[in-house]
Amino acid sequence: MVGFDLEAGKIEHLLGHDNFTLHRKSIDEAVADGSMQEAVAWADVVVNLAAICNPYEYAIRPSAVIKSSLFDALPIVDLCCELNTWLIQFSTCEVYGRTVSSYVPEEGYSDPDLYVQSESRTPLVMGPVSKQRWCYASAKQTLERYVYALGFERQMPFTIIRPYNFFGPRMDFIPGRDGTGIPRVLACFITALLDDEPLLLVDGGTARRTITSIHDAIDAMMAMFDRPHAATGQIFNIGADGNELTISELAHRMREIYADVSCDPRKRNLPILNVTGEEFYGKGGYEDCDRRVIDSTNATSLLGWSAKIGIDEILRETISYYYEIYADKTAVATR
Ligand code: UDP
Repeated sequence: MVGFDLEAGKIEHLLGHDNFTLHRKSIDEAVADGSMQEAVAWADVVVNLAAICNPYEYAIRPSAVIKSSLFDALPIVDLCCELNTWLIQFSTCEVYGRTVSSYVPEEGYSDPDLYVQSESRTPLVMGPVSKQRWCYASAKQTLERYVYALGFERQMPFTIIRPYNFFGPRMDFIPGRDGTGIPRVLACFITALLDDEPLLLVDGGTARRTITSIHDAIDAMMAMFDRPHAATGQIFNIGADGNELTISELAHRMREIYADVSCDPRKRNLPILNVTGEEFYGKGGYEDCDRRVIDSTNATSLLGWSAKIGIDEILRETISYYYEIYADKTAVATR
């Protein structure tokens, strides 16, 4: 296996493996020195995971988000097309944008046709250009359309994956410990729990997400590798049916599980406070995806895959990982 990345912090434990070579360079550099062409020509499959995937970054540097999620990927897509190499393109469930039900009167919320997200039927609903939030979704959507077009015009073998909030150990960064800025919600809440700070709910925490274990996500990838004919030419939602909850519920559950894992009942009393999107993300034009409910029929019928791991198990594993790595355990022992 050959990888390309500028950083290796999350995969240091894999670097010594006989079957893995990491090139520490950007896609531009790898294309310029020919190592990307060599790797794509040699590979049975190319998996493109590169992107800047973080709502805070959408607000503060949207042009970099668009570049990394769309333009930087184009040489890889073109190479796969030229060399007829199977491309697995990691997209995002964010391409669905807001649900249609969020634009209709209250009763629309009970009509699954208006909010359940199906790869072949659901429209992709982006907000206005002045709301930078949509820079990532629009870039990813355009890349999907480009990949799909090359599949259609030039029979390029491809698979597009739309992940639903994958959670697990090593996800994201913890500000002040291994990164700076504002991470995704999981890491924001973990940081608050580690540091005895309030957990902040953006716009009341009413947005809903479907949480998926990284282990189920990896199983889905393996199912694709096992069934390349079933997987090619397809778009797959990959997520855990039934693991839907509001961000407010997520905060309450994480606080409870963290208190258990750390054997520190005081954590149950940490405040959970409301902030506006503008207070949290700045003036860069924040809007939110209201809801992400997955229709995973495609993955089940073509790949024989469905997610198995429930929310509490996902949160317990992930919180335990962060607690082990970052918590100041002497503080609890002293108390
Ligand atoms: N969010 C929150 N508090 C935080 C961080 C995020 O309430 O400390 C909200 C955010 O506004 C969104 C949801 O949590 O509604 C998920 O945010 P995430 O950063 O994971 O990205 P997304 O799922 O929107 O791509």
